[in-house]
Order: sequence, then C-alpha cells, then structure tokens
Amino acid sequence: MMRRVLVFGWLLLATHAFAAGHIVIINFDPANTGLNDRTPVAPQPGNPATTLGEQRMNVFRAAAERWENALDISVDIRVAANFMGIAGCTATDGVLGQATAIRWIDDFPGAPRGGVWYPSALANQFAHTDLLPDTDDIYMQFNALVDNRTCLGDANWYYGLDGQHGKDIDLYLVVLHELAHGLGLTGAATAPAFRDDLPSVFDLHTLDVATGLRWDQLSPDQRVTSIVNTGNLAWDGEHVRANAPRVLQWRTTLTVTAPADVARDYDIGTSSFGTPANRGNVAGTIVPALDAENADGPLATDGCSAFVNAGEVAGNLALVDRGTCPFTTKAANAQAAGAAALIVVDNRRDTCTPPSLSAAGTSGDAIRIPVISLAPKDADALRAQLADHAQVTAMLHVDPTQLAGATRNGDVRLYAPCSLQPTSSVHHWDTAVSPNLLMEPSINTDLLHGLDLTLDQLLDEGWSLPPRTGRPVLRR
Ligand SMILES: [Zn+2]
Repeated sequence: MMRRVLVFGWLLLATHAFAAGHIVIINFDPANTGLNDRTPVAPQPGNPATTLGEQRMNVFRAAAERWENALDISVDIRVAANFMGIAGCTATDGVLGQATAIRWIDDFPGAPRGGVWYPSALANQFAHTDLLPDTDDIYMQFNALVDNRTCLGDANWYYGLDGQHGKDIDLYLVVLHELAHGLGLTGAATAPAFRDDLPSVFDLHTLDVATGLRWDQLSPDQRVTSIVNTGNLAWDGEHVRANAPRVLQWRTTLTVTAPADVARDYDIGTSSFGTPANRGNVAGTIVPALDAENADGPLATDGCSAFVNAGEVAGNLALVDRGTCPFTTKAANAQAAGAAALIVVDNRRDTCTPPSLSAAGTSGDAIRIPVISLAPKDADALRAQLADHAQVTAMLHVDPTQLAGATRNGDVRLYAPCSLQPTSSVHHWDTAVSPNLLMEPSINTDLLHGLDLTLDQLLDEGWSLPPRTGRPVLRR
C-alpha cells in the first residue's frame, strides 16, 4: 500500500534557504491543512510536537535525516512535500504515499554512463553541483485520509518514532520508502516504457532472468514480456548480491516429488499463525479436502466446515480454496481431520504470487499445523494431476541452497505480478522475500526501522556511503 504514482512535469521552485548536504523538506501545504494542520495532539514517543502538522513534519525530518546519515550527500536534495487526501482509499486498501524524482538528467558532467537517465538528486551528486538549481528534486505526497475512520478503517497514521505503531501505520517507514523512490528507485517513464528510448539507472540493474539480459539490453517488446514474468525479474547489483545472504532467510518451499510432470519447487505464501512453515518439515500426499456445501461455505472445496474425507486427509497435506470463511477456520477443520499441513489456493489470478495469510481478527492460537498458500496457476497444475487420479507427493521444507525471494543465482527478485500494476511493478521487491523488506509494494506490520537492502540498491546505482564510515552494520 505504499503504492507509488509517477508525477511528471512538476516544476516546483524552492522557497527555503538550505544548508549544504541535507535533504530539505519543503512544505507545500496550504495554511491549516496537512503539514500546517493546527489540530492539537498529544506528544508521541520521540515526537514532542503538539499540533498534527508539526508532528507530521517531524516524522518527515526524521526519515530525511536517516537517509542523510546513510548516504554521502554533498549537494542539497530538495523534497517538495504535502500531506493531503489521496482518492480511492477504502476500508481495506489505499495509497499511503507516493513519490517520484521531479527531473531526470542524462549526459551531464560526471555522468558514469552516457545515454542514461539519472534522477536529479543522484546526478547532482555525481556532478558535485546542483545541475538544476531552480528545480526541486523529489516530490512526495502522503494520504491525510488515513487519519479518518473510512480510509483503512480504524488504522491511523502513527507519528511516534519508536516503531511501536500497534494497529496503526508507521509514517516514518512510509517516508523512508518514498524517499528511496525519489533518490533513484524508480524510472523516468512508467515501466516498461523508456523515456526517449533511454534507460533509467534502475533499468541498468533490472535483470530479465529468462534471457539473462538487463532491461537496457532488451527490446521494448521483450520488456513488455519481462515485466509480467513473475519470479523472473531480479536486481543485478553487487551490493545487493553481497548483502542479501545477511538479510534474507533460506527459502521455504513446497517441493513436489511426483508425478514427474509437476515435480519442482513451488513458491508459497506463509501464515501469521500455526507452526511456521520453515519449521514444518512435512511430507505426504496432497489431498483435496471436501466438506459440505452449506451456509458456512458454498463450495465443497472451501474447507469452511468439517471435512468429510478426513480418512484420506489424515497425515497428508490438505488442499482447500480461499474464500468465504477465515483462514483460521479452514486450518481448524484441517487440523481436526488430522492433516499434517494445510494448503490454501488463492482466488486472485492477477498476481501469480501466493499471498501471506493472516489471522485477521480471528484467533489462530489453537492452530498447530503449518498453513501455506499457493498461486492458482500452480494449484491448477497439481489439480489436473489429481483429476487424472495421480498421487501427488510433496514436502514442505527449508531449502538451504536458495534465499527467500531470490533467484537460483542469488539475485533478489523484483515485483513482477502477472497482471501489470503500473505504479508498483518492477520498482519494488517481489513479495516472496522473507523477512519482509522496506521496498515491497505494500507495507508490512513486522518491518523494523532498518534500511535493509534499500541502501544496497542505492549503492548499486552509484550513491556512496558517507565519508569516513565503513560498511554499516545492517539493523533489521
Ligand atoms: Zn513504493
């Protein structure tokens, strides 16, 4: 939900004086709204301001300072910011914030490579001067509607700086995320298009695994194919490659061992309840669970009431469809039938990525079996075998040769849902990464305040660490 929308053509004049080497936040809100909202509020941990607008600005400044301390910034970066309503927010889904580089520059003095677009903040750093002194560098916007009860329900922005956001949304993290887009983790055109046929610096590191070529080496048609080739888009960069083993866990996978036609490793989504999948170590056959078609759930495959084929399910991996009842209800029915694990087949066909499963308002405390999800296209292949009366054997296990969310070569995967999501595709990490990372397309509640692989991505693009510092110890 930290979805990003490209905003081109913003030409905003800097209005504030600034000191050298800082990320300067420029408040573009009208009087009494957004960052100027004078509503009295109680101080929050680490944020002593007593008006809503000042608290918001304090969080912006804290996140800007975090990036200032992480990177060598010799030319001021001017960030035009506002805090206003972003339309389209519902009780369950909305855009938290969006940001982009305002201007992109190519072929400037000091450019590492000709014919490549660099965001002005990075171009200025390479050039050691402000190449466009009359223009701000980054535009970012945050959704003030989050603070009402309609947008994302009871969850509001959290303005504390201690990470203790509870059910609320940690603004500090979202600002860190959006600033990273503005510093270079986005493109000069909406992917997979290029502006004026030139790649952006991000594209130099965007690897199409299927062809082994980077995006700057692909034709426009090849990029159209690449951007929806889920699991086969990855980041090509030395810093990310070197640090990924320190940040990511080993991949937990569902390995199908027979029949041969479907024998391979499958991406899974994990759940926030039950035995963690990486401690499951379950092996058996995959058995579609059947239950009554009743008021609890209209399908025989939804797992919403007691399984009628418990004898077959017992000791094996039960397979049910997502929908109608909570995941915890399906899991309780599987557990009661003696299943060793539960596989929930997603009902969304537009991502090709198995979702994370949450207890969402129910209690998963009684669940002791592992519960995982599978993408529909993967489940289709397995169900075709089951329909032919084949026995599908599988094991849920940790693969100590592959990082969670990385390719076999160890390159961390980029977000490539099989239906293009113009504001999210490519410029985020694949949601298969584990643990969750700052630059995933949606905010995750378990993120700490670390920069994880975001810093490495920016270093790969040509940013440097501050002078006289060694490699930072990553805090996660
Ligand atoms: Zn984003």
